[in-house]
Amino acid sequence: MATIRKALVIGAGIGGLTTAAGLLRQGIETEVFEARRSPGLLLTGGGFMLWHNAFLALRRIGLDEAVAADSVRMRFHEFRSDTGRRLARWHLDGPTERCGAPACALRRSSLHTVLTEAVGEHRMRLGSRLTGYTEDGDGVTAHFADGSSARGDVLIGADGLRSTVRAEMRRGFEPPPRYAGYTAWQAITRLPGETLVPTGTFFNLWGRGGLRFLYCRLNEKEVYWDAITSDRASAGIDTVRRGRRDALAAAYRRWPDPVGRIIASTEEEAILPVAIHDRPPRGGWAHGRVVLVGDAAHPMTLNLSQGAGQAIESGVALAAVLGRTRPADVPRALRAFEESRASRAADMVTTSWRIGTLGLVHSAPLCRLRDLMMYAFFDSVARGQSYGLMLDGRLERGPVPPAGAAVGAVPGGTG
Ligand SMILES: Cc1cc2nc3c(=O)[nH]c(=O)nc-3n(C[C@H](O)[C@H](O)[C@H](O)COP(=O)(O)OP(=O)(O)OC[C@H]3O[C@@H](n4cnc5c(N)ncnc54)[C@H](O)[C@@H]3O)c2cc1C
Repeated sequence: MATIRKALVIGAGIGGLTTAAGLLRQGIETEVFEARRSPGLLLTGGGFMLWHNAFLALRRIGLDEAVAADSVRMRFHEFRSDTGRRLARWHLDGPTERCGAPACALRRSSLHTVLTEAVGEHRMRLGSRLTGYTEDGDGVTAHFADGSSARGDVLIGADGLRSTVRAEMRRGFEPPPRYAGYTAWQAITRLPGETLVPTGTFFNLWGRGGLRFLYCRLNEKEVYWDAITSDRASAGIDTVRRGRRDALAAAYRRWPDPVGRIIASTEEEAILPVAIHDRPPRGGWAHGRVVLVGDAAHPMTLNLSQGAGQAIESGVALAAVLGRTRPADVPRALRAFEESRASRAADMVTTSWRIGTLGLVHSAPLCRLRDLMMYAFFDSVARGQSYGLMLDGRLERGPVPPAGAAVGAVPGGTG
């Protein structure tokens, strides 16, 4: 069967590069167009978590081991209050063994490097900002800001939260992303000390007054952290007069060790605030020969640590579908891809949004109630629900063999 000849991927983030790596593995000629001008600019950003489902998806394109090699395996996910009281502690070794894939923390740039190597820099056109596309019976042409164009059988919009491809697909009738009401101040700091921040635990602290704090060790020397502040809390964080680090240190001054030490150890310029957005699930990722993946399709808040995980799952599933599609069948295949992924991605978006609203609670009595609920239910009900969503029955089905052996399915994916 003659499969498609050429795919155009717009955006060299995690979604675009994963899709491109999957397509190349299927033998499909692929070019990636990225607005940013230099590889250095692509390698920015802090650390993050990749859960078991992301590694299972990466395994399908043979990249799980390379990504795991530069990551630190997480053995516990621990929830605490802002007084230091432990509310819940999830043991991650059991699920890791049962599904056969780890949960890891890593630098965003490490994942990017592995994906870029898999795609090959010669297939990436940096400094190419898509401005629009035109489609006809047997192909699609992408148009770029520098006046150039490119033609392929399919165009994949992996251009993030404020996707141009998405806006073009909707002919401009697209509401802006939905603001979640909080900001994540993220950074990586140099902070050795196993007793201060032990390797292998992802700490998730929930406080009063609209404050949260996440942190974990990335390697012997570095710690990744995220201070999440509601709008009301952010209003009291005066970064103009005091600078980001001192303003955050003041906001978190009553929090238990090592929060203050982590903030104090961080370089001012390393702290990057990101206003958190998503889009209410609405579908419509596929139209004709054009399709969306990653944040362009299903952006979500950071509360489940699944945005990149879902971008990876979508990219792998899309590549698998296109690998068995004839050029004339592309529109039908893209609709089938969307159908296979939409409900899972929508569940992630909705659940993540709901968790985020718990962090907007300000009053001390309501926060105490939230702590009590977390203490009572997070080790049982919440863990079960979270793993049910993440692994979609995978724990019951047992470990997935390495790539090259029998290939495991992406939860909610095709193939
Ligand atoms: C603070 C924070 C913490 C997070 N933590 C986690 C976590 O722990 N785990 C997790 O799984 N997820 C996490 N996420 C979510 C994750 O970062 C995103 O879901 C993921 O990066 C989306 O990847 P993407 O490739 O779809 O989009 P992006 O990373 O936004 O990439 C889009 C690319 O397209 C390019 N582009 C844009 N417009 C154009 C154009 N017109 N032409 C050409 N190129 C264009 C951009 O330059 C960019 O390189 C977090 C997000 C935030 C904000």
